[in-house]
Amino acid sequence: MNLQDDIRDKKRPFLITGPCSAETEEQVMSVCQAIAANGNAHMLRAGIWKPRTRPDSFEGVGEPGLGWLVNAGKATGLPVATEVANAKHVESALKAGIDVLWIGARTTVNPFAVQDLADALKGTGIPVMIKNPVNPDLSLWMGAFERFMKAGLSDLTAIHRGFSVYKHPKYRNVPNWELPIGLKEHMPEIPIICDPSHITGRRDLLLEISQKSMDLNFDGLMIEAHPNPDNAWSDAAQQVTPEALKALLSKLVLRSREIGDSLTSGLEEMRMKIGILDDRLFEILSARMKISEELGIFKRQHNVTILQEEHWKKLLAARLEKAGEMYLTPKFIRSIMDDIHQESIRHQTRVMNPDLL
Ligand code: PEP
Ligand code: MN
Repeated sequence: MNLQDDIRDKKRPFLITGPCSAETEEQVMSVCQAIAANGNAHMLRAGIWKPRTRPDSFEGVGEPGLGWLVNAGKATGLPVATEVANAKHVESALKAGIDVLWIGARTTVNPFAVQDLADALKGTGIPVMIKNPVNPDLSLWMGAFERFMKAGLSDLTAIHRGFSVYKHPKYRNVPNWELPIGLKEHMPEIPIICDPSHITGRRDLLLEISQKSMDLNFDGLMIEAHPNPDNAWSDAAQQVTPEALKALLSKLVLRSREIGDSLTSGLEEMRMKIGILDDRLFEILSARMKISEELGIFKRQHNVTILQEEHWKKLLAARLEKAGEMYLTPKFIRSIMDDIHQESIRHQTRVMNPDLL
């Protein structure tokens, strides 16, 4: 099969679903048949070898599960995919007849492991999906694609599964949408699938993230489904039944990827207005930085430090107080003020210590 072509040819979203882990032959077959009966899935997934954070967790059924998944594929007529993390996994998965392989987030971080996998897959032409690395590093993600491309594997697809952080109040893995958007920019030929299950870690947020990914023009979704989610042997809180998955997908609003001629002129006008405002915004920022430099010269002449904490706190508080009336979120104000402040410090440093730079 050619996965890139399939993804392009099918109506969005290209749906990959199945359990986080293959647990028993019966579980794999029953969930895959229920998924197929929904009529909206394009590929089945199940983890056979599970990269678990702690060693006492269920680490996958291993090789016997490959046959269960392949049989579920045959019974439903859908291609099947699983995660491989080393050359031994590759050999077993290929021998069993798995159609598509994916590289997990904990493997993408390691260039040695990625290279070993690319070497092991050389010449097979099998489609490979590459999850983002656990840390938000676009180059590392791109590097993994490049390693497979150099090994002659061209049927590659990206999976965005979010980035790990310590104790986030909402997400299991923060989406950092700018990274998959960056990947689209640098590697436009690579389709992108969003994995809301691993981003959210909880089933009540799946729709929100799925919708967002569709609005950001992603090609498809990978969502974990289980016949009895609460009793799943891994990732119980984020899995849904095939019925709940069907309901979720029916709520997705799919908007057109292209702008028709009739809409173009209205859109052009709004884009022009935004362009004009952006020009003004940056002219103002540039003028502000010139004043920062004057300030730096003044501070140098009077031998005072660049950072004046009390003043900075006051500036920030005054801005945050106006968040509501400006229709801006405090989070945005905080981050933009931090960036402006850092740039201002750079300008002041330049004029304060001309000999050091
Ligand atoms: C998975 O898909 O079940 C999985 C382990 O994913 P990730 O590599 O994104 O953590
Ligand atoms: Mn999982």
